[in-house]
Amino acid sequence: LTIIQFQHPCHGEFNVPIGAVVKDSDSGRILLEDDEGKEHWITARNMHMVRLMHPSSVQGVEDMICLGDLHEAGIVHNLLIRHQEHKVYTYTGSILVAVNPYQLLPLYTVDQIRLYCNKRIGELPPHVFAIADNCYFNMKRNKKDQCCVISGESGAGKTESTKLILQFLAAISGQHSWIEQQVLEANPILEAFGNAKTIRNDNSSRFGKYIDIHFNQNGVIEGARIEQFLLEKSRVCRQAPEERNYHIFYCMLMGMNTEQKKMLNLGTASEYTYLTMGNCTFCDGRNDAKDYAHIRSAMKILTFSDSEHWDISKLLAAILHLGNVEFEAAVYDNLDCSDVMDSPHFSIATKLLEVDSSELQNSLTNLSIIVRGESVSRPLNIVQAADGRDAFVKGIYGRIFLWIVNKINSAIFNPTSRKAKDSRHSIGLLDIFGFENFSNNSFEQLCINIANEHLQQFFVHHVFKLEQEEYRAENITWSNIDFTDNRQALEVIALKPMNIISLIDEESKFPKGTDATMLVKINSLHGKSKVYIPPKSVHDTKFGINHFAGVVFYESKDFLEKNRDTLSANVMQVVHSSKNKFLREIFQHALTLQGLDTTKRLSTLGGQFKQSLEKLMKILEQCQPYFIRCIKPNDYKKPLLFDRELCIKQLRYSGMMETIQIRKAGFPVRYSFEEFFDRYRVLLPWSLRQQNDARQSCISISEAVLGKDESWQAGKTKMFLKDHHDTVLELQRQNI
Ligand code: ATP
Ligand code: MG
Repeated sequence: LTIIQFQHPCHGEFNVPIGAVVKDSDSGRILLEDDEGKEHWITARNMHMVRLMHPSSVQGVEDMICLGDLHEAGIVHNLLIRHQEHKVYTYTGSILVAVNPYQLLPLYTVDQIRLYCNKRIGELPPHVFAIADNCYFNMKRNKKDQCCVISGESGAGKTESTKLILQFLAAISGQHSWIEQQVLEANPILEAFGNAKTIRNDNSSRFGKYIDIHFNQNGVIEGARIEQFLLEKSRVCRQAPEERNYHIFYCMLMGMNTEQKKMLNLGTASEYTYLTMGNCTFCDGRNDAKDYAHIRSAMKILTFSDSEHWDISKLLAAILHLGNVEFEAAVYDNLDCSDVMDSPHFSIATKLLEVDSSELQNSLTNLSIIVRGESVSRPLNIVQAADGRDAFVKGIYGRIFLWIVNKINSAIFNPTSRKAKDSRHSIGLLDIFGFENFSNNSFEQLCINIANEHLQQFFVHHVFKLEQEEYRAENITWSNIDFTDNRQALEVIALKPMNIISLIDEESKFPKGTDATMLVKINSLHGKSKVYIPPKSVHDTKFGINHFAGVVFYESKDFLEKNRDTLSANVMQVVHSSKNKFLREIFQHALTLQGLDTTKRLSTLGGQFKQSLEKLMKILEQCQPYFIRCIKPNDYKKPLLFDRELCIKQLRYSGMMETIQIRKAGFPVRYSFEEFFDRYRVLLPWSLRQQNDARQSCISISEAVLGKDESWQAGKTKMFLKDHHDTVLELQRQNI
């Protein structure tokens, strides 16, 4: 079987050759069957597009570092043949690559957990359980915290992988204890309030999370802590076509009993504007009523009282009713004003929020600002009034979410384990949004991509460090290895004084700042930087950033407003005077910090995100890290369909190429002395073939074939070679 890679004409954009086998040949032409089963005749004229692949590519390998074809084409080919054989997992050195199978495979049974328990990596086929087991083993042996950074684009399988690791860790903790159950049951609650159906994923997490699981000295789970990042609040008010709002709303409407629904004046999902923006209230494969029962029981396990649950339900219902409130235009004193239209929804919302109806009405249709210490009121037109209502709703939902995360933490976080901090160790699981580049990118994408820059930096340094360690252990001399480091980009975007994000933040705190003045400042300070791409003209509002994964253009409109993320003083006043204790409680943090004076600003959204990110990076740096790169093989959620281009794009974002690059810059090809001697001793004269010093024999072979220079080296246990050495050796071997 000869395997060939050739430049597929249709894959021009990516310029990546694909694998194929020779099926036939006649007068100067060959017939190839490619990886996807398509046939191509290659004529003599096009023969330059065809190249022999390395023998290791034929069967595929479990660790892609062993691939002879250590480049994109080889990697994609390897993943493809494994995908076709239902092999979900593959290593690339220290990274686990997981290609979403989009079908239930018998890989996660109790027997499989038992099988992977207490095994070294490499003993069994690659598996997410092997990573989990290794984390656990190393935590216990080295008494060091561990972390798994799980990344990939929406639908790639991050959350499923996180849950599988959690399940494995709970199983080997093995106590069947209340705390183990609590840690596991936190997930359904978080998913109900933070996940939604999107076009990419029926259960898409719209927030990032870091779960830190704490173990005592005996390796038993004794608590955990969850940190959340950047919930997508806009989804509460608006959904794209075919997308839904957060699961909890639909679950509540399907699962709550009639009596309770009556008390909240609730009907069916189709009656609410906020639930029907995407024209989709059902999600195939989900059972909202059943999920509601599960959410309820999970809440009980996490010590949510019935009254707390009811308080949350009341606010969720209030949100739905507020969404149905409409405004009508009015003109007073020649000014465009608005009035709340008469409907039962408004009065129900006021009842649920326990606020004064004229006060709420006033706060939604007017904006009061403080001018020279005095409050001045200005009417809002119908568009502004609707925007203000949406901002209020987003404020409520965002705070409910934060309250829930705190509540969960208060149940699962064991403060005594903090006292015993020296003896307890943890495994952290980071399930965070991957790099995003849409047709329209805004402030949220910038934050997400900055998080990814941080993680990439963390990753590159880790891989580089590992490489150095191996050289040191093997006594290899090496000069500086050159590799793409995103440090410089990260500094310009988020680290150096006057970085881009700090300029955005500064402008947000400046009362007269606008998106335009912000752009002017960024242009003047970073206009010449390689990382920043200024708008094309003075009228253009889009700027670009050269991220490690490619250039992304951001629409600067609304940046400041999104970053400020504040509610108007009148809305805050309404909350303040509400009789709903829970409503006041969730706003407590803001009220105590900000008071009612909106000029004294709370920290901005970007500022908060930056802070939590920096805190996270500090934690990660204390840990021994593992990387799991989830890959989505197609856009149709279908099994056995592998879209090569889609995968290549993800591989490029994933950092896998960096691992390879770092390796290629050093010595990518490694053989143990035994392997090397076995394969290449034929290249030695007969008299020298029987040497019994393995290392010396390998050196003799290399000197004879490759020459005496520093470009290859013999370590303590292995030969370290460059790619071209391998080719030379192989060719010589074939010619014998
Ligand atoms: P998002 O960024 O949108 O949250 P995600 O990376 O977290 O996406 P998941 O929700 O984990 O994606 O996975 C999407 C879907 O893919 C799952 O609902 C499930 O149907 C399928 N899936 C993921 N991993 C596996 C797996 N190992 N086995 C079977 N199906 C899987
Ligand atoms: Mg997810």
